[in-house]
Amino acid sequence: MNDLTDKTILVTGAASGIGAAVVRQCVQSGAIVIAADKDDPAEHTGLGMPHQNLILDVSDSGAVRRVISGLKHLDGVVNAAGIVGQGSLQQLDEDKWQQVMDVNLTGTMLVCKYAAQLMLENHTKGAMVNLSSAYGLTGGPGNIAYNVSKSAIWQLTQCAAADLGAAGIRVNAVGPGYIETPMTDMLKNAGPFRDQFVAMHLLKRSGEAEEVAAAICFLLSDDASYITGATLPVDGGFTAAHVPMVNLG
Ligand code: NAP
Repeated sequence: MNDLTDKTILVTGAASGIGAAVVRQCVQSGAIVIAADKDDPAEHTGLGMPHQNLILDVSDSGAVRRVISGLKHLDGVVNAAGIVGQGSLQQLDEDKWQQVMDVNLTGTMLVCKYAAQLMLENHTKGAMVNLSSAYGLTGGPGNIAYNVSKSAIWQLTQCAAADLGAAGIRVNAVGPGYIETPMTDMLKNAGPFRDQFVAMHLLKRSGEAEEVAAAICFLLSDDASYITGATLPVDGGFTAAHVPMVNLG
């Protein structure tokens, strides 16, 4: 487990799935954790006693600014808040597109922006980790708003890393594959589609929130001190090779 002793870390989307696993592992690694979600994280069990629980809608610019500027110090930020918004280009509801962009992309940007401001004021060489997706790195049918938002997070991560690198602030992302969390509950009963989807991951299984959280905690820690601007796939090999076996025999 990576050492995060006494580092103050803000985690959004902390009440569920990957965010909740990050809270648990950060607490276990000695961090002072601020758990934030649009639903009060205090009402969720199994977070391992974060230092502080906050209600925060990351798409609300005023709220993000107020909450982060009210903090004294931040060493790390994890942007795990996110929503899905299924639909192909032809089916997509435009309001849904906007909602997905507001939460996934603008929300991540706002938290990075105000966290950077605080880190720069305090001369903190902090670390940020964003949640992209294997689908943000590859594309795919029927999920255009989500995939585009996650692809943009990959680029946001590179640009923020470029803007903040000289101050010693690192910005990275992870790109998870199929992770079993409440967000992917609908796949549990998707029969052959689920089997096919799992088979597209080289390790032939879905991942667990704790496996993504471990990669995030590494990127937050000083063990990753020379890594910035990277999006680390945590996807069982999905982005490495996800085409079916071809036998040209
Ligand atoms: P999850 O279990 O649904 O957790 C996401 C959390 O974010 C929920 O508590 C959700 O609250 C919260 N949230 C939604 N909108 C918010 C807002 N406006 N402000 C603050 N919090 C908000 O999903 P997850 O699977 O852990 O996903 C975490 C992140 O990983 C997401 O960004 C997701 O896109 C990304 N990811 C997940 C997978 C996967 O396979 N699970 C793969 C690739 C990437 P509600 O439950 O009330 O909406």
